[in-house]
Amino acid sequence: MMERVGIVGAGIAGLAAARELKAAGIEAVLLEKSRGVGGRVHTRSQEGFVWDTGATSIAPRGKRIQKVLLEELDPPAPILRPIWTHEGLRVRPGDTAKNSTPRFCHTQGIQTFAKLLAHGLDIRFNTTVERIEKEGDLYKIGEETFTHLVLTPPIPQTAQLLWTIDESRPIANARYRPCLSVLLGYDLETPEVDYHALLDPTQSHPLTWLSVENLKSPGRMEDGKTALVAQLSSRFSQENFAKEDEWIVHVVTTFIGTLYGSSWKTPSLAVVKKWKYSQPDNLARFENVNTPGSRLLLASDGLMGGRIDEAYEAGARVADLIIGRATQ
Ligand SMILES: Cc1cc2nc3c(=O)[nH]c(=O)nc-3n(C[C@H](O)[C@H](O)[C@H](O)COP(=O)(O)OP(=O)(O)OC[C@H]3O[C@@H](n4cnc5c(N)ncnc54)[C@H](O)[C@@H]3O)c2cc1C
Repeated sequence: MMERVGIVGAGIAGLAAARELKAAGIEAVLLEKSRGVGGRVHTRSQEGFVWDTGATSIAPRGKRIQKVLLEELDPPAPILRPIWTHEGLRVRPGDTAKNSTPRFCHTQGIQTFAKLLAHGLDIRFNTTVERIEKEGDLYKIGEETFTHLVLTPPIPQTAQLLWTIDESRPIANARYRPCLSVLLGYDLETPEVDYHALLDPTQSHPLTWLSVENLKSPGRMEDGKTALVAQLSSRFSQENFAKEDEWIVHVVTTFIGTLYGSSWKTPSLAVVKKWKYSQPDNLARFENVNTPGSRLLLASDGLMGGRIDEAYEAGARVADLIIGRATQ
């Protein structure tokens, strides 16, 4: 059988693997449980508001993603305003060194990057992989047969898939933190602030991150509308994950009111997005998990780091391993 690679998950890691394999002439099929690409790189639009609900920007940091992002695909816009910090909601200018890292986001939303990456790839949407079967050297998922399999979901979900074929990998170290993300829409002019986002570097306040989406991506929404994304700390998210949305929104809008004034306590629209596995706090090692010659490979962000550039790198490195094998 010719090389045929099944990839579970069409997030950035899966898309990167498929793109690199396709460029090398190897057939790859992506199996994705949702109805869209991008995974944690996701944009939501509602009533004229547009929010990036998970990852907020892309910092390529000279990695392999950089050429794809800035040269091969329609490039995103640079984010011009810096990240500032807050201490107990008292706002301070951010760290100049940290702000010198170039960050990007597509004007229409960060998920545009995933859609551009996905162009021309074979993706089966609404396809949740619940079990894998092995027949000799081949892997089967439903009626599809593959010579290689790449698993990209967060490590805890990948571990469940491995159990279905009695496979194990040294992945026990990888642990993820949850994140409650609150999307707020206001029919108010955008606050006149010098930053696009606020960060609590001490992680001691529940409000860990606040992004003003229109200042991050000017032109994303019509004037007179403001979209904010508040991400809550790991501790707060863990302790309050099961709480009702109404309560979570009330807590967050109290903080926003303190920052911008009382009219910001009542948004026109509020949506709570619960990320059970937002980013890894602890990693397993890519080299220990993916041994050369293996036909079952893992490309989760729990191996190389919980950022878009690192997820891309994990996917591309897995493709390298397969391409090396395929051309032997
Ligand atoms: C709130 C938040 C803020 C973040 N901020 C940033 C940031 O600013 N910058 C940055 O670089 N990174 C950020 N990240 C991290 C970044 O989004 C991730 O590291 C990266 O997107 C992970 O990509 P991935 O492809 O490894 O995984 P995912 O994006 O999780 O993709 C996995 C895919 O697999 C699918 N899937 C899962 N299980 C199955 C199954 N059984 N069958 C079929 N499909 C399945 C999922 O639907 C998903 O599409 C943030 C993440 C969150 C949640």
